[in-house]
Formats: sequence, structure tokens, C-alpha cells
Amino acid sequence: MFCSIILMVINLMVDLEKNIQYIKGVGPAKATLLNKLGIYNIKDMVEHFPRTYEDRTKLIDIIDFMDGEYVLFVGKIQTDVKVQRIRKNLAIYSTFACDDTGNVKLTWFNQKYIKDRLKVGISYLFYGKVQIEYGRRVIDNPQIYNLAELDKVKGIYPVYTLTSGITQNYLFNLINTIYEDEVKEEEIFSDEFRKKYNLADINYALKNVHFPENFSAIDRARNRIIFEELFLLQLALMTLKNNSLGMKKENVYSSVDEEDFLKLLPFDLTGAQKRVVEEIKKDLTSDKVMNRLVQGDVGCGKTMVAAISMYIAVKNGYQATMMAPTTILANQHYNELKPYFEKLGINVEIITSSTTKKNKEIISNKLKNKEIDILIGTHSLIEDNIEFNNLSLVITDEQHRFGVKQRMKLTNKGKNVDTIVMTATPIPRSLAIVLYGDLDISIIDEMPPGRTPVKTYVVDKTFELRINNFIRKNVEAGRQIYVVCPLVENNETLDLKSVEEIYEKYKNEYFKDLSVEFLHGKMKNKEKDEIMQRFKENKINILISTTVIEVGISVSNATVMIIENADRFGLAALHQLRGRVGRGSYESYCILKSDNKSQKARERLKVMEKSNNGFEIAETDLEIRGPGDFFGIRQSGLPEFKLANLLKDMKILKEAQQAAKELLKEDKYLKLAKNQKIRNALFDKFGEQLTNVAT
Ligand code: ADP
Ligand code: MG
Repeated sequence: MFCSIILMVINLMVDLEKNIQYIKGVGPAKATLLNKLGIYNIKDMVEHFPRTYEDRTKLIDIIDFMDGEYVLFVGKIQTDVKVQRIRKNLAIYSTFACDDTGNVKLTWFNQKYIKDRLKVGISYLFYGKVQIEYGRRVIDNPQIYNLAELDKVKGIYPVYTLTSGITQNYLFNLINTIYEDEVKEEEIFSDEFRKKYNLADINYALKNVHFPENFSAIDRARNRIIFEELFLLQLALMTLKNNSLGMKKENVYSSVDEEDFLKLLPFDLTGAQKRVVEEIKKDLTSDKVMNRLVQGDVGCGKTMVAAISMYIAVKNGYQATMMAPTTILANQHYNELKPYFEKLGINVEIITSSTTKKNKEIISNKLKNKEIDILIGTHSLIEDNIEFNNLSLVITDEQHRFGVKQRMKLTNKGKNVDTIVMTATPIPRSLAIVLYGDLDISIIDEMPPGRTPVKTYVVDKTFELRINNFIRKNVEAGRQIYVVCPLVENNETLDLKSVEEIYEKYKNEYFKDLSVEFLHGKMKNKEKDEIMQRFKENKINILISTTVIEVGISVSNATVMIIENADRFGLAALHQLRGRVGRGSYESYCILKSDNKSQKARERLKVMEKSNNGFEIAETDLEIRGPGDFFGIRQSGLPEFKLANLLKDMKILKEAQQAAKELLKEDKYLKLAKNQKIRNALFDKFGEQLTNVAT
């Protein structure tokens, strides 16, 4: 007789839905901070992917240091640590370290212990970010280790997105704690599918994205995760397009004569506007549903092209709608276009978040009864209770500010609607095609006549007085000034603080006698609109704002734009901001203030002095900063991904697109049993928008 011993393997499996608060070392206070990063449960933390990695696998010679790079190096201390007391709460500790190839200045702020930590003549390991200032190498706040710690320090370190109160080390320890037990997410791809597209298993990918053994493991892990993100997006877009692609419109437009509208305009269309209108007309009269992207630099006159298209839709007996990203922009479109449409007996209405509930109801009823032909508005347009009678044309302005979901929701308000999306963001053509599926692209590459390029200057602190005199001179000549404050990413409270500080300076130091006001995203819409209105009426001389107050604003009397801490913006964003001036016939100026001494930063800003062409600027920005930073979080509005980067990951994007195509070819409605997990993932992510596609 023998007994069999049953070995019970106790697999401590992590519950992915478990609230992050209950993990060792978290608790309610830290949990609140983690929530700010979008981390509510374990799954969120596992999917809080590193932004990048620190390569501390190699020691770098000092002579090879490059501006902006992070380096691990051995340096021998050359001089006693010097202390400079700048003011009461700021002391700078500095010294020099060298190796056989060169030396570097090391500085720390308010770190008293440095004086005892470092001894002249002794070598240490340092890790930090190199800056080249006036040809000299400097590292602020490098981390210090003893040489004996080399083995421990060497390796590949994940770098996470943080929020105040949460450090890299904290997140690193947290993810370590979580992975002490077994973490298992559901694999949505079959073995066959993974083999076909050479994809790693999801759990291998998740683990190696946080704890990579080497760089090729990172690649494989990231590739898998990015593929899934892009694949699901492509599936969503295609499923949506299945609805419209190749579909016949029920009613093809017959009359496309816009003469009556054009007669009312005080100007002729530019050649480029005419060409794009023709392209649109061709689509409108074809029986295929139109999906068109209209790209054009700020101020090229996209709104008129939109208006003409809407006019044609209405003339054919249909309704049209145009969605703008902010109330101010929606109002501007409404006020600009309403007089023309009214003269032609066309009813235009506007709906924004400041529209009262009662008015929304009235508008909604009129819409259903077709007493309104054109509805202009903000996100409020996509609310469920806004229903059209026979919507046939949907236009989104500043498309980059809307997500895929919102776009879907609006087009779903009509049947086989024609769509135009308008953007001033120069998206490379190859990218636009993948992103927007089969969108056709029209480009307005010509400015209305009489525009003079905005004169642009990059200046530092030493110019302050001169700039202020310049502002005064312009105000005395009757012109108006914009001052743009640096944006604090994802932090409206800090944004507000920076606006208030700058306002203080302008209002109470420099221009006590002038009318100075400020605008901020946190203010109520009504307040914002009032201020904007008064600015338009020239009752405000200097308007201070964040970028939250958007790009398309048109006040032709405003001729000077001052951008504070300009180095904090991407060039594409600066260019869009600059487009707010130079809208009239007056000479206009853009002053980029920056005290950043890094060569790279100055070089980048100088591009703005030389070029007035948005596409050219965007390309240079791309070259200098790399694609990672190109679509900064706020300005982008491209779909948000946890890991994917649409420019960098173009290759994966194409593969994912191909894979999605093949899958839908085989199983158009994702009905096959083997595709159910994919289908569930798709609906988890894009759910409600796909409802009329699904069954
Ligand atoms: P954007 O393309 O940035 O949206 P807008 O549509 O706001 O630009 O146009 C900027 C300004 O140029 C508006 O005041 C508009 O009335 C004017 N505009 C548009 N087309 C022409 C044109 N062909 N000639 C002169 N002015 C024009
Ligand atoms: Mg516009």
C-alpha cells in the first residue's frame, strides 16, 4: 500500500480588482494620491506603465555627456563642497567631480548633508541628468552612491508618471509588493493569433514592462501591450466605419450651388478655400458617405469652408451641426455665421454648457421638428436628449481636442452622415490615414490676403523693461495684448496660481493704470464669456490667460502676444497660440520669454523666430524633441493610450491595423467563439458607442 501525497500548491493569486488602499504600505492618504494617477485598484497599478526607463547598466565617461541625458558615472571629488546662501530658504551646495576624460559641476539645493557626504579625492558613483550650460557640464541633484554599491545600482529602472506626494521609489516598491504574489490578467488573444503576429503572452509582457531583465525584454513587452491598445482602437474605428464605409447615402445632394452664400461675404475665398470647397462638394454629391479631414494653419479660414458645407446641406433639406471644443469658440462661430444664415432664412441655434436646461429642451424640440437647420455647440451637443430630425452633416472643429468616443457619439445622431473634421494640428499624412481610417484629407495651404507674418522674438529676463515699454506703446496706439502663462500639466490649481502671480505683476507692478484682466479654465463659463466679450470690445488692454482659453479665438485688434516661460510649451502649441495675433491688418508681435539656459531649449525656441509655417515648425519640433513629446498630453487630444505613441509606434500601428482588418474580414460582427474575449475587451473600452453596430 502506498499513500499518495497530494501536494496542494497554494498559489497566491492577486485579486486585480482589490482596492489599492489595502496594499501593504498604502492606506487611505496615499490611496487618494494614487487615485490622482488613475490608480484605484491593483489592475490600474499593474497598467500604470513606465513612461521610460533609466539605463543604469553602463558607466559613462564624462566627456561623452550629452545635454539632457541621464548618466551613471564614476567621479572623483576635486574641490570642497561650496555653500551659497541665495536667500533665507535656499542654499546651493556645489562641487566638481572628474574622471580621466573631463569634469562636471554637481549642485544640490538645500541638502545640508552633502558637505559631510563627499570627501575631496574620493571617487563616488553618481546618477543624474546632464545639462550643458554655456559649454559647461552641470548636474543638479545627482544621486550619490559609494563605489562598492555598483552592482546593486546597475540595472534598468522603470520611470513612472508621478504626482506630488508620490515618488519613483514609492511606486517601484508598490509594484514590487504587488508582484510578490502571482499577478494574472486575462489573455484575450488565442495562441494562434499571438503566433501569427509574434506577440508575447500578456502576463509576460506586464511583468517585463515593470521588471525588465534586459532591453529586448522591454521591447517585447511593450510591443505586446501597444499592439493590444492599437488593435482595439483600430477594431473600434473599423467597426464604426463598417457602418458608413461603402454605404450608400439614402439621399444624395442634388443642388450644390453656394453662390447666394458667397455673395454675402465681404471677401473672396482664397484659392485654397475654393479648392477644398470643391473637394467637399464632390463628396456631398456622391452616394458614398463623406469622411474628410480639413487641415490648415491657424487663421487660414476653415470656418468659412465649414459654413459653406453646412449651407449646402441645409439647401438640400437637411440639418447640419458643428461642434467646437470650448464655449468661447462655439460662441465665436455662432456670432460670425448667424448673420449670413439669417439673411438666407436659415435657422441657427447654439447649445453649450451655459445653455439653461429649459432652453435646451426648447432647442431639442425645435430640432426634432426641424425648426432649426444648423446647430452649433460644444460637447453639450452629444448629450442624449439632443435629437435631430434629419441630420446629414457633422463638423468637428479643432478635432484634436475630441476623443474617438465623442466623435462617434455625434455621428451616431444621424444616419450615414457626412463628416468633416477640422484641425490646425499638422498631423503627418501617414498618421492621419491610420488614425482616422479612410478619411480623405483636404489641406488649406494659403492665408487670406493682407496678413503679415507675426514678428517673433525670443527674449530673457534682461529684456523685461524693454518689453514692458513695448507693451505700453502698443496699448497707447490703441492695440491689445495677450499674456499667456505657462501651463502646469494636469494641474488646474497650480495653473490658477501661476495666472494669479503673473496677473499680480502686470496689474500691480507694471501697468497700474491700464485695464488688466485674467481668464482661467476654472472660472465659470459665464465669467469667461463676459471677459472675452469685453476684450473683443476693447475694454481690456491686457488679457492674461492660460492656454485653456483656446486657439481659435479671433480679436483682430490684439497685436501683441507675450508668452511667459515659453520653453515649457511644445513648438506646435506655441505656433497655435501665436495664431491668435496677426488676425487683422496691424503689424503683430509674439514675444517668447524664457530664462532657460539650456542650448537645446533656446535652439528650439529660435525656430519660432524663423518660421511661420505650422507644418515646418511641427516637423522641426519632432526632430528636436522626438515623437515622445510631440503630442503633449493636453494639446494632443489624440486618443489617449496607456503606452502607445502614435508616431513612434507607427510600425505596430500598421500591423495592428492589418490584424484588425483580417479579423473583421473573417468575423465581421465578432460572433465566433474564439473571438469573444476580444469582443468583450472592445466593448469594455468603447462600449456604448458601438451599440448600433453590435448585434
Ligand atoms: P481657422 O482656420 O484658424 O479656423 P478662421 O476660420 O477663424 O480660421 O478665420 C480667421 C479669420 O479670417 C476670420 O475672421 C475669417 O472671417 C477670416 N477669413 C476667412 N476666409 C477669408 C478670406 N478668404 N479672406 C479674408 N478673410 C477671411
Ligand atoms: Mg478655427
